[in-house]
Formats: sequence, C-alpha cells, structure tokens
Amino acid sequence: MSQTIAFIGLGNMGGGMAANLLKNGFAVRAFDLSEEALAKAAEAGAVRCSSAAEAAAGADAVVTMLPAGKHVESVYQGEVFGAAKADALFLDCSTIDVATARRVEEAAAARGFEMVDAPVSGGIAAANGGTLTFMVGGTEQAFGRARPILSAMGKAVIHAGGAGNGQAAKICNNMLLGATMVATCETFAMAKKLGLDPQTFYDISSVSSGQSWSMTSYCPVPGVGPQSPSDNGYQGGFAVGLMLKDLKLASEAAASVGASVPMGNAAESLYQMLANRGEAGRDFSLMIEMLEGK
Ligand code: NAD
Repeated sequence: MSQTIAFIGLGNMGGGMAANLLKNGFAVRAFDLSEEALAKAAEAGAVRCSSAAEAAAGADAVVTMLPAGKHVESVYQGEVFGAAKADALFLDCSTIDVATARRVEEAAAARGFEMVDAPVSGGIAAANGGTLTFMVGGTEQAFGRARPILSAMGKAVIHAGGAGNGQAAKICNNMLLGATMVATCETFAMAKKLGLDPQTFYDISSVSSGQSWSMTSYCPVPGVGPQSPSDNGYQGGFAVGLMLKDLKLASEAAASVGASVPMGNAAESLYQMLANRGEAGRDFSLMIEMLEGK
C-alpha cells in the first residue's frame, strides 16, 4: 500500500517537491497558509487540508518545507505532535538554525516519534525536477525510513550524522559557497582592472589552483563559462536574500560553538550590503557588480 505524506509548506520549493511525491505514487495531504499554494498542490493531485493538524492526522509521514525555525517549531509543537499517528515519521526539509532543529527533534523523540532534519541543496528548478540533494541528520533508523521518501524528490540522499547534522552540513556548505563566490567576484574585478581579458583569465584559472565551483559552474562574468544567471541579467538562480539567510544562520551556529569564521562573516556583511541596495531578489553572483563599483 502506498504511503500517505502530509506536506506542509507548498511554496516555491515545497510545491514541486510535493508534486514529485505524487508522481512517485505517494498520496499527499497538503496544507499551506497561502490559498494560492494550496490550490496549486490540489491541481497536482494532493488532498487539500485546512490545518497542519488535519494534514498530519492519518499520514504515515509529515514533510515540512517552511521559511524559518520559528515556523517549524510552531507547526510541530503546536499542531503536528498532537495530531500525528503514533508511528509517524517527521522530515523537516526547511533550512533552519541548528539549535531549533535539535530542539524540535528532541521534543519529537520525547513523544516517541522519529524525526530527521533534511535540508536541501538545489533551487526551485531542482525541486521541480526531483534532483535535489538532501543532507540528513537523525538516527540510522530514522534515516532508513526517510530515504525512500526523500529519494522520490531528489537525486542524492546523504546521512550527515545525528540530529541537526543535516542543517550543520547545509550551512557549512553554503558559507563556503558564499565566501568563494565573493572571492571569485573580487578576483575577476581585479583581473579586469589589471588589463586581463575575463575569458583569458577564466581559461587560465579554471585549470589552475584558483579554480572553484563558483568559477567553473557558475561564473559571475556574463558570457564566460557555462550558462549561468550572469548570462540572464542575474535573474533566477539563488537569490541574494536566501544566501544572506544562510550566512546569518552560519554565523549564529559559529558563535554557538566558538568557531572563527572571518571569511563567512565578511561574506555575510557583503551580502547584507547587496541586499540593502534593493537586490535581495536577484542571483547571488550579482556580487561582482557591487565589487566592480557599479
Ligand atoms: P516560500 O516562502 O516560497 O515557501 C514557504 C511556504 O511556507 C509558503 O507558501 C508559506 O505560505 C508557507 N508557510 C509559512 N508558515 C506556514 C505555516 N505555519 N503553516 C503552513 N504553511 C506555512 O519559501 P521556499 O523558497 O519554498 O523555501 C522554503 C525553505 O527552503 C526555506 O527554509 C528556504 O531557506 C529553503 N530553501 C530554498 C531554496 C530556494 O531556492 N528557494 C533553496 C534551498 C533551500
């Protein structure tokens, strides 16, 4: 018999993820505060529910894809814990702070539920295409139960360790991405001022020790490297506002364990400046224009 999944939070990411569960034979009970998001999910074949508790009641597993830790905490503590079946599995795929993820997972365990934090790498296109990467924190047993559900929405499902470790992996990865993108942007800006043609510098550095994903998969210079948001006026891709969110989570996590993250902190300040220029909605490789003084 196919499993029934309660899906809560059907926005830019959750909408496509729920549609992929449906395509893979799961039944979906959907809830979102937005009527528009709920209508789209119903169109894709999900059952509309009028609250998170109603969606969770009768479901074998609950998947949440919500904006931040406070939403995740209130949905589980306020509604899902009280309504779910005794053996229901909980999967939070939102990107949230490590401390809240661990607190909610402990609260679930105290009530006898299994739960994983399973944030994603990949944006809206990957959510729609079912090609997300999931980084999963939780027990071996919870991970084993979560894997078939996550596999229906992604191409890679990786166990990162105990509760909260999925979130830890996600923010460490994105802090590295934010810092390398800033470094890539400032380097291309300097190369140009020194009289180097950007394509020539790319041809050299992409096969030298300065190479990074930010350069060879997502080059911030239009017309250089494979197709990326820089070739499309920095539209689509990974929004400045979302990068800033992840960098703020990273500095919060760093402070909580006394880690020194000077490059992550610098990247956070620079993305804050870019957001303050009214660019929170454009792709994060737009950083190059600010560093070029445009
Ligand atoms: P979104 O704002 O488009 O969707 C969030 C949805 O949650 C909205 O539809 C909102 O109405 C709903 N919601 C909020 N509070 C709720 C509640 N209490 N009950 C029910 N529904 C509620 O955001 P998104 O872009 O889909 O991102 C979701 C999560 O995924 C975030 O944590 C984000 O950081 C993460 N993420 C996003 C991307 C991306 O490219 N958009 C990539 C990776 C990770």
